Amino acid sequence: MSVDAPMTVAYDRSNVFARILRGELPCKKVHEDEFSLAFHDIAPLAPVHVLVIPKGEYVSQADFGAKAPPEMIVGFWRAVSKVAHDLGLDPEGYRIVANHGPNGGQLVFHFHVHIFGGRTMSHAMGSMPKPDDAG
Ligand code: 5GP
Repeated sequence: MSVDAPMTVAYDRSNVFARILRGELPCKKVHEDEFSLAFHDIAPLAPVHVLVIPKGEYVSQADFGAKAPPEMIVGFWRAVSKVAHDLGLDPEGYRIVANHGPNGGQLVFHFHVHIFGGRTMSHAMGSMPKPDDAG
């Protein structure tokens, strides 16, 4: 199945995760392979808060899904699972989040997945209005 490239902002090579990938900024690395790099978030929101990023210029999850080669998509998502497993999160569970665009709260425009673990997450995800609140 082919997916049309989404309308999105252009990739900015000066974004902070691109700089981490190039080794220009440090990170607390937990995993690296040919497809991905995973490191601890600089401002953790849970006892475990790790970011997994692909090794490629993808702005968002939609950009990644539309443009990345299949082996990259598979390799990236397997890395997400491996990182969570290797961090010991499988038995108790964890949450993965990918913020997309302004309404999603995306701040860094290099696609990344957050892995949250080490505590029970709120059932509510964000402060989302109930469907019947919408005008
Ligand atoms: P977003 O809102 O884009 O999904 O999340 C961006 C995340 O990147 C935030 O959780 C933020 O704390 C993290 N972050 C921003 N700058 C840095 C940095 O220089 N190093 C690391 N390790 N994380 C960062």
